[in-house]
Amino acid sequence: TDRTPLDQLSADDLAAFLAKTQADYAALKDRGLKLDLTRGKPSAEQLDLSNGLLSLPTSTTDATGTDVRNYGGLEGLLGLRALFAELLGVEPQQVIAGGNSSLEMMHRTVTSLLLWGAAGVDAPWKDAGTVKFICPVPGYDRHFTLLADLGIEMVTVPMHEDGPDVEAVKALVADDPSVKGMWLVPTYANPTGSVCSVEVATALMSMPTAAPDFRILWDNAYALHHLTDVEVKSADALAIAAANGHPERPIVFASTSKITWAGAGVAMMAMSPVNKAWFLTHLGMASIGPDKVNQLRHLEFFGDAEGVRAHMRKHRDIIAPKFAAVQDALEGALSGLGVAEWTEPTGGYFVNLDVVDGTATRVVQLAKEAGISLTPAGSAFPHGLDPRDRNIRLAPTFPPLDQVETAMAGVATCVALAAAEKLSS
Ligand code: PMP
Repeated sequence: TDRTPLDQLSADDLAAFLAKTQADYAALKDRGLKLDLTRGKPSAEQLDLSNGLLSLPTSTTDATGTDVRNYGGLEGLLGLRALFAELLGVEPQQVIAGGNSSLEMMHRTVTSLLLWGAAGVDAPWKDAGTVKFICPVPGYDRHFTLLADLGIEMVTVPMHEDGPDVEAVKALVADDPSVKGMWLVPTYANPTGSVCSVEVATALMSMPTAAPDFRILWDNAYALHHLTDVEVKSADALAIAAANGHPERPIVFASTSKITWAGAGVAMMAMSPVNKAWFLTHLGMASIGPDKVNQLRHLEFFGDAEGVRAHMRKHRDIIAPKFAAVQDALEGALSGLGVAEWTEPTGGYFVNLDVVDGTATRVVQLAKEAGISLTPAGSAFPHGLDPRDRNIRLAPTFPPLDQVETAMAGVATCVALAAAEKLSS
């Protein structure tokens, strides 16, 4: 488009733009919308793809003869672990299949590190006084609230297209032994859609750290969630770490929350043999075994790894048009105005929208008053504090397509209005 950036308009032209955008906004409010782009949830249509689970499993035993109805099998059914090991590019022996939530596994990992210390290190993190975690931002809000709740300090580093800022990370871990951990969503990160390159992964897994028990929580929640026909493979964190002399550094997480059912899927972890023994020791104090019936029905439902990939392509067909609608709305209303930048993710569940500094809170409020719920501004930062107040996470999967279109046209109006207000003030 041949639009002029707002900050280059004459005072008169800016006043005219503001007046027109105010009128657009008034019209938007008059529509009395009630739309929600807040959370990355699968839509009902996506959940329906897995309704076959309702009549599974057909057997009460798995291929090894284990009665899935009974206690036991702390690390989960081998068949399902093997299936997801293939998809995640790890070994079946490295995998634990658990309950329905990988976030719960992450929480247990951090609390175990705090209470008992890392595998082979008789030094609970809690005894160290201050514990710090590196948080690439913008990032996943629940990662940050989990840490805040446990009293762990968060230090941020920028998230780039190819993963976190390696130089910033290296500088933080080099001399400070209280920097004990780091979050990373390596593939189609929440919310930027970044994909961690092999180079960045190698730097993270090989860098010297002052803390001998430094851990990277490698949350591969969106490993298989491609939006295009390019199905990228995640960097092989476990193998890279082992090859660089730090086999215990990464702990990998994944789940079927956005593959089958968000509330009734199967969560998984993958890690070195030493880490796995450590984790199972503590897990075994809390559980006699996971829900193997659910694990078996997932195994029967998919059959094999290709079954999962084919299933993910059905998700893609449903949600890719919604992501396209987000691009169209932002592009159509805002390109050339110099008031926003946004990502065009090739996978995952989010679009990252950066508006004019200092206006994100205003945009979210304007949208709310027009009946469009957005994730609170700042939620992709520790303690909900975006130092530039510019970041908004858009989650287009849940509403039907026409609602995504309507909501995003409205969001674009709010972005333009907040920018024009700020420039005029
Ligand atoms: N990690 C990330 C990065 C997520 O975006 C989400 C869901 N929004 C989760 C973990 C939650 O995973 P689960 O449902 O397996 O607990």
